[in-house]
Amino acid sequence: MGLEAEALKKGTGEEGTAWVNADGSEAARFLVSEIEGDGPTAEMEILRGDLARLLYDAARHDARFRFGDHIVRVDEIDQAISVTFASGATGDFDALIIAEGVGSGTRELVFPGENEPRWMDLTIAYFTIPRTPDDDRMWRWYNAPGKRSVSLRPDRHGTARAMLSIFKEADGAQDWNTKRQKAFLRDCFADAGWETPRILEAMDHTEDFYFDALRQVKMPRWSSGRAVLTGDAAWCATPLAGIGATLAVTGAYVLAGELARADAVAEAFAAYETQMRPMVEYGQGIPKIGPRLMHPQTRLGIRLLHGMLGLASLDPVRNLSAKMFSGPGKEVDLSRYPEV
Ligand SMILES: Cc1cc2nc3c(=O)[nH]c(=O)nc-3n(C[C@H](O)[C@H](O)[C@H](O)COP(=O)(O)OP(=O)(O)OC[C@H]3O[C@@H](n4cnc5c(N)ncnc54)[C@H](O)[C@@H]3O)c2cc1C
Repeated sequence: MGLEAEALKKGTGEEGTAWVNADGSEAARFLVSEIEGDGPTAEMEILRGDLARLLYDAARHDARFRFGDHIVRVDEIDQAISVTFASGATGDFDALIIAEGVGSGTRELVFPGENEPRWMDLTIAYFTIPRTPDDDRMWRWYNAPGKRSVSLRPDRHGTARAMLSIFKEADGAQDWNTKRQKAFLRDCFADAGWETPRILEAMDHTEDFYFDALRQVKMPRWSSGRAVLTGDAAWCATPLAGIGATLAVTGAYVLAGELARADAVAEAFAAYETQMRPMVEYGQGIPKIGPRLMHPQTRLGIRLLHGMLGLASLDPVRNLSAKMFSGPGKEVDLSRYPEV
């Protein structure tokens, strides 16, 4: 779509990732400028909202967008798929592409009970807070005992992005209301230290509070008749994989390519799944030990983690260790789609 240069321009400007101690001193740092390829901070770091705006602006004149409505009923009919919206509007389409993210409701309408989520034992909250003069352009990551972590990331909007995470089995907290989720976080992080008091204070006033217990979407199939899943709705890999946006954009491209190549929708969907499965399975293959290692229980465990990251960030091994955070991935051969 010719948007790469614009996406790079709209990047967050994050210069690297540092693991910090309670007094703010750094235990380890990985700078983008010192790493070949992607490390904990990738070459392209763009906020989801900025990316969505970029794609929307490029597509809005050719595609019809209906905001504030959602699908409540889907029926396969002869040579088409019929959709009913909550507003009462209806329409018949050649194909229904479901791209509603991890908690997709239409996925449950079309594929009831087929998703077997893989829970990742990590509960996270993510929200925007005011920036202070001390905030630099690094992603600063702080570990507190009790398997908790707190991080701050820069953006280009004059604010900062805060994340709180706790390594624990999912216990339904993702379904609580926002008030209860915030009370839980206030309680859980009260004694965490570092910048946490400021983050908890700002959490009360934030406008974009996000809270979830991370789980991967595991679907045995991605299509049924004229309906097909893509992006997180089909295969959410969770933020731990650091590849969800890449998979979503690649999936849309491959689906468009296969629809352009095929004579029938079912044929296109089958080819799309064949092309995407290896990349998705590789992206979802995060060992559960990863988040556990990054969230130690004790102060000693945190010192060991910092020692390991400090060694990994040293010059001779830095490029190799940065790959632990990004990995080479399995790419789809996009030259298959010259017509897209
Ligand atoms: C905290 C966090 C950090 C992340 N960090 C990274 C990262 O560093 N790198 C990376 O590549 N990925 C990252 N991800 C993952 C990435 O954000 C997702 O993989 C990506 O956004 C998936 O895109 P999507 O379009 O499939 O779904 P989404 O971005 O979830 O978009 C789905 C859209 O559908 C809408 N919707 C939902 N239900 C309906 C309905 N019934 N009708 C109509 N619309 C509906 C939603 O409002 C939403 O706008 C992160 C995710 C989180 C939560």
